[in-house]
This record gives sequence, C-alpha cells and structure tokens, in this order.
Amino acid sequence: MKLIVGNMKMNMSLSDIKYYIENLNYKDNVVICPTSIYIPYFMKYNVGIQNMFYEDHGAYTGEVSPSQCSSLNVKYAIIGHSERRNIFNESDETINKKLASSIKNSITPILCVGEHDGEDRTMILSNELDKDLSGLENIDKIIIAYEPIWAIGTGKIPTNEEIFNTIKFIKDYILNKYKVNVKVLYGGSVNEKNIDTLNQISNLDGFLIGGASTKVNEFNKIIEVTE
Ligand code: PEP
Repeated sequence: MKLIVGNMKMNMSLSDIKYYIENLNYKDNVVICPTSIYIPYFMKYNVGIQNMFYEDHGAYTGEVSPSQCSSLNVKYAIIGHSERRNIFNESDETINKKLASSIKNSITPILCVGEHDGEDRTMILSNELDKDLSGLENIDKIIIAYEPIWAIGTGKIPTNEEIFNTIKFIKDYILNKYKVNVKVLYGGSVNEKNIDTLNQISNLDGFLIGGASTKVNEFNKIIEVTE
C-alpha cells in the first residue's frame, strides 16, 4: 500500500479543520501534516509536522522540538521542503541536523529533494542527498520525497517515465552509497485527475500532496484510488 502524505501548509481555519475531520475517509496509509497548531485535532490519525527544529528545548522562539513532537505522538516530520529551503533559507547543514534529531527521537523524517526548472536533475539530487545525509546513521529510517520544484503548485508534472527514472536514480544512489533501501515518494501537483496515471509508476512508494490534501473530497478520492 502506498503512503499518502498530506501537506496542508499554512492553510485552513479551525472551522475548516473541523469540517475536514468530519468528512475525511481516513485509511492507515495516510499521514496528515496540518499547520502545527492544529496537530492536537488529528491525534487519532497518523500525524506529521511540516518542519521541526533540531534542538530538544531552549531559547528558540517560534520553533518546535522533536521531543515535543514525540510527546504528542507525531510520527513523521517533513524536512527540507523547498519552501523551507527557498523562502526561509534553510541550508543543507541545518537539514542534516534536523534529520539526525528526527531519527534520534524516532520520528520518521520525510526529506524533500528536487530541482528547479531547467536545472540538471541528477546533479542537484546527488548534491542534496550527499549534503543532507552526510554522516547520518540509520538512513534506512528516512523517507525521500522527490519534489521537482517547478511542479509544486503549478499543475505541471513530469511524465511517468521521468518520475520512474528519477525514483530509480534516488534509490540506486542511496543503495550504492549507503547500502540501504529507502522509500521514495513523488510530490508536485498530484490531484484527483492525475492520480490514476501516477499510480501506475511501479517503483513509487507513495505521494506527498500539497494543495489537493486541503480539499477533503479531492483527498478522499486520492485515498480511495491509491493502491
Ligand atoms: C508540496 O508542496 O509538497 C506539494 C506537493 O504541493 P502541491 O501538491 O500543491 O504541488
């Protein structure tokens, strides 16, 4: 069964969240990553956080720690999303520390990697993977999300063949370098219209879904048809 991770980003009011929960056709392969203040409303589900700091506690105003997440039974953390990298200038060094503390606290990190439009895909991916995974133990605990930045929120997606080849590249790269198998998700403009086609990609372990995860009926359809 493929993993379906919904990244709600900074969307939804409290009444939207209540409506969403009343109407969600949840299954065990679904992970919901709401805006962090809403996490307590999703406790009966697999829940993830969209970003997390690497220190356990201290004077870090505005941040949330891995041990705080563990205490709420948060099971997943999206790390290094392109919006964190590009808008908040998050560096690979910071991402590397966040991955280490996430694993240490038994929170499964979902590491986002992907190229901008026109960039050399395999060069960007190998560079990000090298820096983000540097010196880490238990790399098999990390889930990778391949998210071409040009596909996020744009309605554009690579072909199934391109996604297959990129997923294969990532899996082979990590297997050769670290001798472990990892799960790889695809993210970028997945919706109820293209999910049937994307579902046919044989080496894919799931999807990271932004915009479509905030519309409960559309997300239900994606959950229903994903195998
Ligand atoms: C994302 O931001 O992780 C994402 C996949 O967004 P969208 O589905 O809206 O393209």
